[in-house]
Amino acid sequence: MPRTKLIAANWKMYKTPDQTRDFFRDFLPLVSGHERDEIVVCPPYVDLAAALEAARGSNIAVGAQNLHWKEVGAFTGEISAAMLLSLGVTHGIVGHSERRQYFGETDDTVNLRLKAALEAGLTPICCVGEVLEEREAGLTDDVLRRQCVRAFRAISAKKAARLVVAYEPVWAIGTGKTATPELAAEAHAVIRSEAGEVFGEEFAARMRILYGGSVKPENAAALMAQEEIDGALVGGASLEPKSFAAIVKY
Ligand code: PEP
Repeated sequence: MPRTKLIAANWKMYKTPDQTRDFFRDFLPLVSGHERDEIVVCPPYVDLAAALEAARGSNIAVGAQNLHWKEVGAFTGEISAAMLLSLGVTHGIVGHSERRQYFGETDDTVNLRLKAALEAGLTPICCVGEVLEEREAGLTDDVLRRQCVRAFRAISAKKAARLVVAYEPVWAIGTGKTATPELAAEAHAVIRSEAGEVFGEEFAARMRILYGGSVKPENAAALMAQEEIDGALVGGASLEPKSFAAIVKY
């Protein structure tokens, strides 16, 4: 069974609700009727309602960029999976490298968020990836295996059914440097083999692994041509309707 590709936009801390409505006004006609891939837009929390309203009845799903592992509680500034679901959000990014780098995200909190997302019925997009020093030291495989093992801890294959992983080499995020398709595919194979160890081969063969790191209209087709690459997580190039549509339609 071929894996349906998933092309996801990570808007990071960009766009207001008005700018979100403008984006969808221009983006929807460019991708209407595009059934080949699953398309997801992950705007900042304050734009979720506007995005859901604008995307209603379309082929675009809406995701969050993070979620807390508790359902409710005294956690000022946090948002739970249940809250996201109540809005109509279906996907959630977990463990993005910017969260790991600037906001104290650890492999353990990634695991908690992942469990909460799966438990609630969201489709988590769990990010893993090495920093430049780790790649240069030949540690990429070890880092990916460690991040996966810890993220997947105490999750059954049954519970993990919706799990999507994004391989995002940190040195390629927002830098204009893209991993070559071959290099990305190698890393994806490591992630898939680790998923096989934890969840079983059959599960791993079905699991989607996205590539993220300076994906643009010019390099999307070559990346997507790799059998190991099941879609893309796109930051900068997803902010502009034409460029994100060109990636979706690579
Ligand atoms: C990202 O934010 O997940 C990302 C991959 O960003 P960019 O496409 O800008 O490198």
